[in-house]
Amino acid sequence: MKVAVVASALNHLDLWVRGGLPRPRTLPLVPGCDGAGTVESLGEGVTRWAIGDEVVVNPSFACGRCPQCLADRSVFCPEWGIMGEHYWGTHGEAVIVREANLVRKPSELPWEKAACYGLCGLTAYRMLRRARLSQGETLLVVGAGGGVATAAVVLGQRLGARVFATSRDPGKCKRAIELGALDAFTTGGDPVPIKADVVVDSAGSPTWSLSVRALRPGGRLVTCGGTGGVAVELNLPRLFLSQQEVIGSTMGTFREFDDLTALVADGLPVTVDGVYELNDYRAALERLASGAQFGKVVLRH
Ligand SMILES: [Zn+2]
Repeated sequence: MKVAVVASALNHLDLWVRGGLPRPRTLPLVPGCDGAGTVESLGEGVTRWAIGDEVVVNPSFACGRCPQCLADRSVFCPEWGIMGEHYWGTHGEAVIVREANLVRKPSELPWEKAACYGLCGLTAYRMLRRARLSQGETLLVVGAGGGVATAAVVLGQRLGARVFATSRDPGKCKRAIELGALDAFTTGGDPVPIKADVVVDSAGSPTWSLSVRALRPGGRLVTCGGTGGVAVELNLPRLFLSQQEVIGSTMGTFREFDDLTALVADGLPVTVDGVYELNDYRAALERLASGAQFGKVVLRH
């Protein structure tokens, strides 16, 4: 199927792919994981969509036939991949996708928001599920401002948790509180003054020590990446004596994407940092690389 892209969004993956790590399987490669648009043409056998339908792209690729896919564990599919890394992505005038990669755009949702909740929202949603965050628990989101972190703040609230956040930037702490965090701590190496049942960390080595120390006994630290550095130290006695868990998570399943879209349609906030014209791609990438953003950097096509 061919989708005319109306808006798309940037992710850290775009910066990494541009830098050659991960190295694309084929070149040239159109980057871009997130996007929303209208169905321009249908492929053979497409039954669920009509030309002109307004859709959001799910960037996950999976075979749809193997035991993992059939059990809604598509993240473990042997053919699993991400649009914009393993396949041509959304940062173009149009993108070719399978029909399983589309969900209906919530009708009231502006294009810019429809285009940017996908990858980070899905990642954050699965992280909280994998960490078994439950109502009334305390969630600490480390590094407020990034796409996954802002999604984790609002999803944590929606799941009934008491949400706290950290950032090195006092302005970002203020924004996190505006998003609904009960409090946010400006970190400069000091431990945070709370203990959390679940810590969400996507920054990696710069925040690892803070994240581990913020865990309660029985707490779960869930990570989806290391935007600031990937090698960390783990103190094993602290881990096992406190019966804590370190959980890895990446992307999400097709059902989780459907669930997330339903939450967004129901008013889950989507935070847009700024909107750039597709022709200003370089400026948009530079904004993301600067780390100054709060929420998603969006491209209007
Ligand atoms: Zn599969």
